[in-house]
Amino acid sequence: MVQLSAMAFSFAVSRTIPGERGRSGSIQTPHGEIKTPAFIPVGTKATVKSALPESISDLGAQAVLANAYHLYLQPGPDTLDEAGGLGKFMNWDRPTFTDSGGFQVMSLGVGFKKVIDMTGDSLNSDDVIAEKRERLAHVDDDGVTFKSHLDGSMHRFSPEISMQVQHKIGADIIFAFDELTTLHNTRKYQEDSLERTRLWAIRCLDEHKKLTDARSSKPYQALFGVLQGAQYEDLRRKAARDLGSMSSSGIEFDGFGIGGALDKSKLGTIISWAVDELPINKPRHLLGIGEPADLFAGVENGADTFDCVAPTREARTSAVYSPTGRFNVSGGSYRRDFSPIDSSCACYTCKNYSRAYINHLFRAKEILGPTLATIHNVYFIVNLVEKMREAIERGDFKEFKREFLGRYKGSE
Ligand SMILES: [Zn+2]
Repeated sequence: MVQLSAMAFSFAVSRTIPGERGRSGSIQTPHGEIKTPAFIPVGTKATVKSALPESISDLGAQAVLANAYHLYLQPGPDTLDEAGGLGKFMNWDRPTFTDSGGFQVMSLGVGFKKVIDMTGDSLNSDDVIAEKRERLAHVDDDGVTFKSHLDGSMHRFSPEISMQVQHKIGADIIFAFDELTTLHNTRKYQEDSLERTRLWAIRCLDEHKKLTDARSSKPYQALFGVLQGAQYEDLRRKAARDLGSMSSSGIEFDGFGIGGALDKSKLGTIISWAVDELPINKPRHLLGIGEPADLFAGVENGADTFDCVAPTREARTSAVYSPTGRFNVSGGSYRRDFSPIDSSCACYTCKNYSRAYINHLFRAKEILGPTLATIHNVYFIVNLVEKMREAIERGDFKEFKREFLGRYKGSE
């Protein structure tokens, strides 16, 4: 029984980028295949904001990622379990991911103030992020107590609770509960946090095994361990070695998430440290990264999947991607520009609508503005990573990267 369900998740490498760590491959889940590398759009509350699930699947997204923290608070994991899981609930029949809630309980669960209380003998520089001196998310060795950003009610997440919540939500790929640190934390705090995340990872494996056995009639859920370690090479490598070789209750992680504080200027290097220590035959997800240059660095250095709120969040502010960079389509110069956002783009928005029309929608505060911009942006990023995959398969990733980044100037 266990063996049968375990077969529902697998990963195979197809081609590698010559001289680099990057590769193309395929993840199999109970809800279908994800060809990698792939960008996974974020549907925080079981919806990719402002877009129909059908639009998101039509534009080629292979999976979506929702947030355990948000769905735990609202509508609650029992509702998703009763609905038959996240995919059924939101009418999405492809693979799904949920993150562990660790990032949100420690960043959102504090009233958006990015205040994290440090227990024990925290040093002064650990207080940099606690400038408001509020104790709204409290980390201890057993878990995190936090305040809901919705109504201020108090809640607690532990590795066990995160696993229970994520099993009820029912995504194909779920993440171990980890502690979020920032680049401002002291080296000592990062070390302590890494050890705490390691111990939590063991507890996640144990609880995951228990829940998988107890719910054997449900589709198999793959558990990814999450690597922290901030900007420190030795800590990143240690985290990757610890989690990469970790086994408890007779199971191992099915894949790995690279998370936490990432100095963007060193993104590729930081990923390469982790990738060098991780097993080659398991997928690696880079959490919260989605800008074009960062995606190239991630893919080149061996990350297989990515998620980020940037394409959707930017779209709702009328910032849209083009091959030469991101621009604001609500700007005055586009009022009578009847060309599409990007004339080389094959998305539904660009095939049917002009910059002038979308400019008008945003200025008139019509809901369709964010919808059309979201479809374009998600297509642009999903398609960009798909083109990277094709380039790896063809053997010309580096040429494609040089050509794309040569034209792409970032945001205005
Ligand atoms: Zn488009």
